[in-house]
Amino acid sequence: MPPSYVGRFAPSPTGPLHFGSLVAAAGSYLEARCRSGRWLLRVEDVDRPRTVTGAEATILRQLEALGFEWDAEPWRQSARDEHYVAALARLRAASQVFDCGCSRREIADSALAPDGAPRYPGTCRDGLRPGRRARTVRLKTEAGLAVCFDDGVQGRICEDVGAEVGDFVLKRADGLFAYQLAVVVDDAASGVTDVVRGADLIDSSCRQIWLQRCLGLSTPRYMHLPVATNGHGNKLSKQSRAPAIDPARPAPPLLAALAFLGQAPPPELAGATPATIWRWAIEHWRPAAIPRQRAIRVDAEFWEERA
Ligand code: GLU
Repeated sequence: MPPSYVGRFAPSPTGPLHFGSLVAAAGSYLEARCRSGRWLLRVEDVDRPRTVTGAEATILRQLEALGFEWDAEPWRQSARDEHYVAALARLRAASQVFDCGCSRREIADSALAPDGAPRYPGTCRDGLRPGRRARTVRLKTEAGLAVCFDDGVQGRICEDVGAEVGDFVLKRADGLFAYQLAVVVDDAASGVTDVVRGADLIDSSCRQIWLQRCLGLSTPRYMHLPVATNGHGNKLSKQSRAPAIDPARPAPPLLAALAFLGQAPPPELAGATPATIWRWAIEHWRPAAIPRQRAIRVDAEFWEERA
């Protein structure tokens, strides 16, 4: 019988773990442990140009120092091309994808989706125009069909993917597979039942559900946690130069991540080991206390206050 709960943390190795990614790791870990589930790690290095040498090793070392325990050898997307090729071939056989010759500039001139991003106007859907070369491979979507799901934190989410995003890219112009394809194929192949991640990815979820349906895969449950933003309102990320978690001092960031998720770790845990903190956190985990917000501002010293 397949396990009833399989969760995962899927960092992109573009830099060391920072507070924002720790929140996603901690939320998915606590959900998995509290439901006697398995917790998997997946290194999302599908976007080769963004991958930073040494970042994967650093992230694994940081997670270990923070007391996370994963239940299988981590997967690496760079080793899984054949599975993405196979998924694309299935979609191609069912005429669900098409080659697209449009450049970014051509699409930028088209109508805008409600979020301000250009919406793919369907130019190459019925075949490339003469003299055009295939640049990307896109998945067909259907306007007028809302894709909905009930998010464990954010409530009901719906998107008309066809009208709001349009046919989206599964294979990029540089020949690399797109994040949306890799994530859907890998979650299904590793039996993930529950996706717990930052709310910055909530807009991808309806696209991923659409793709799951096209591939005949089941849809996991979703929980999108609030993301930490800095004083300028930008998501804490490697790009916004969020400070790396110091593996030598695991307690302050762990306790801050718990507080950020609406949990109330007692002050006595301030100098505790990660094992003690996790024991408390697993015993007292209250997903209902997670703030139902997509973003929460924290200042750079958020966890130092708990040191
Ligand atoms: N690799 C993505 C990130 O680091 C997470 C993808 C996911 O959880 O689906 O933001």
